[in-house]
Amino acid sequence: MGDSIIGPGSTIGILGGGQLGRMLAMEAKKMGYRVVTLDPTPDSPCGQVADEQIVASFDDVEAAVTLAGKCDVITYEFENVAASVVEQLEKIQMVHPASHILRFTQNRVAEKSLLRELNIEVADFDVIRGQDDLERAGEHIGLPAILKTTSGGYNGKGQYIVKDRGQALSAYQRLKMSSVEELVWERFVPFVKEVSVICARTSTGEVASYPVAENIHRDNILYMSIVPAQISPATERKAREIAETIVSGLGVVGVIGIEMFLMEDGTLLVNEIAPRPHNSGHYTLDACQASQFEQQLRAICGLPLASTALLSPVVMINILGEGLGNRLDGVEEALKDPNIKLHLYGKIEAKAKRKMGHLCALAESVVEAIERAEMAKSKLRWCNMSRGAV
Ligand code: AMP
Repeated sequence: MGDSIIGPGSTIGILGGGQLGRMLAMEAKKMGYRVVTLDPTPDSPCGQVADEQIVASFDDVEAAVTLAGKCDVITYEFENVAASVVEQLEKIQMVHPASHILRFTQNRVAEKSLLRELNIEVADFDVIRGQDDLERAGEHIGLPAILKTTSGGYNGKGQYIVKDRGQALSAYQRLKMSSVEELVWERFVPFVKEVSVICARTSTGEVASYPVAENIHRDNILYMSIVPAQISPATERKAREIAETIVSGLGVVGVIGIEMFLMEDGTLLVNEIAPRPHNSGHYTLDACQASQFEQQLRAICGLPLASTALLSPVVMINILGEGLGNRLDGVEEALKDPNIKLHLYGKIEAKAKRKMGHLCALAESVVEAIERAEMAKSKLRWCNMSRGAV
């Protein structure tokens, strides 16, 4: 094996102990790696399957250095880990994707500007540094618009749709209260679909993109991914090309998830890049030759990438907590359909809107897969009874 290859038996360090780390750890264990994760919550979803968990906060540099000492390569499953910590780790250990990727994806202005440099289209935007900029952005970009924080926002948090100048001013004041930095005034784009592409790249420049997922959100949280996306072959090709251009243009080593808006005329606008495996790529675990997590492992370890071929139409539905209890009932009923695959993340408390797991339905067609997935999901409910109670 060459020097840059991290072979089985080596140890993967994962910053973040959530479900993405857990699913990566499971693939890593399958391929004979050891895993150490760092997360502030003991017995985290990833900690439950890793060989070891370091319990520490993400800004604890000393703990991160300890993690680096225990592994052969580090990755992160959570993009809000401080880029400065990752930068320090890079001095002592191999980290993929590199901190400069994290810095871009943590800042909407930097991300969009870089995408434009790569000739990739994004929704028109203007940077708001102070209240005086609102007037200019209103004229330059127009209304309706979305006012977003430049960093830290996720699942629609830290953003407001504004239809007139009065709404823009009150959104500005609310966002400014929680954030001292710049905001983005983005054109509200009347997209016809939201789609995403998972794409991997190795340090030798090998690139592989997955089939496009069509995503449906509810309350700004991913509800369903449908694959193959119901789009034209030309759009499918274009979306994957955009993803491949980004992964190469940024020089990513690892897996990234790219969310895009499909417009009526076929234009694709990139909305967001996640420098890690993505919720809309969970379908790859059950429906592709190799999952996004196996691909992440291969990419960061310097191994050849796997085939991304889709083996079956598939629909993924997220299972969110509801704040109604921590026991999931109806599993037996949901699994009566043998084409349903259930994934639960081992989280103890099913708080409202928390991602607790997901299911995938495989079928001959996406229409059938949607029906199966919805049917299985309808059988599942959270309740309070303790396990074993009748
Ligand atoms: P984000 O946090 O940027 O991923 O946005 C969350 C959701 O808000 C997206 O999935 C879209 O449904 C919606 N959204 C974000 N930006 C825009 C936009 N410029 N125009 C229309 N909808 C948007």
